[in-house]
Amino acid sequence: CGIVGYVGSQSALDVVIAGLQRLEYRGYDSAGVAVQTQGLDGQWSLATDKRAGKLANLQKSLAETPLPAGTSGIGHTRWATHGGPTDANAHPHLDDDRKVAVVHNGIIENFATLRAEIAERGHTLRSETDTEVVAHLLGEAYQGDLAEAMRTVCRQLDGAFTLVATHADAPDVVVGARRNSPLVVGRGEGENFLASDVAAFIAHTREAIELGQDQVVELRRDGVTVTDFHGNPAEVREYHVDWDASA
Ligand code: GLU
Repeated sequence: CGIVGYVGSQSALDVVIAGLQRLEYRGYDSAGVAVQTQGLDGQWSLATDKRAGKLANLQKSLAETPLPAGTSGIGHTRWATHGGPTDANAHPHLDDDRKVAVVHNGIIENFATLRAEIAERGHTLRSETDTEVVAHLLGEAYQGDLAEAMRTVCRQLDGAFTLVATHADAPDVVVGARRNSPLVVGRGEGENFLASDVAAFIAHTREAIELGQDQVVELRRDGVTVTDFHGNPAEVREYHVDWDASA
């Protein structure tokens, strides 16, 4: 229902939770986050938490068991369509080795076929959602370029989706994709934002890019790259958000 992504130098968790709060008015039944974090050994991994219920539930859990610090991350408030509102069905969804995390708005129409194929290839499905297939497919498709993996996966999907994902082996990168569901980029200085609605990042920047149909965006600290699902450079609409979002 609500999606936020962030790459920059602030606490990703703080930016993402504040963004999700700005989207709460839309209604939702669960919430979750994933943050990229670097261990003392230099290894990157994803730290996640997700809870059924209000954002306050997730925040309580995060207060009890804080996530390690990180400056790139993604978050989601869910309005369940496939699978009840449980912790397991809340987003983000991860692949088997917890390398990739994905959040999703919308419905993957061909998820039943994809689920069967994924199970056949030996993956363990941990939720009842249509979304989880995307995590496994991204994990399989990833060969060092997360945007390329996202394009490969999107070409296999039917339905309506906004997808935002992050990979432990791609530090300071968050990617997004959209078809029949909104996704907006917020451009900052040394930081960039992704959201299903500009309200999520308006406290940080009013310079926005509206993604078009069937586009993939790669978000880094120093810039954004937008292509179509085949990797061709895409036309985007840049605009300044001038309405008063404080209301
Ligand atoms: N279809 C997905 C699910 O049920 C996403 C729902 C949403 O848009 O929040 O988990």
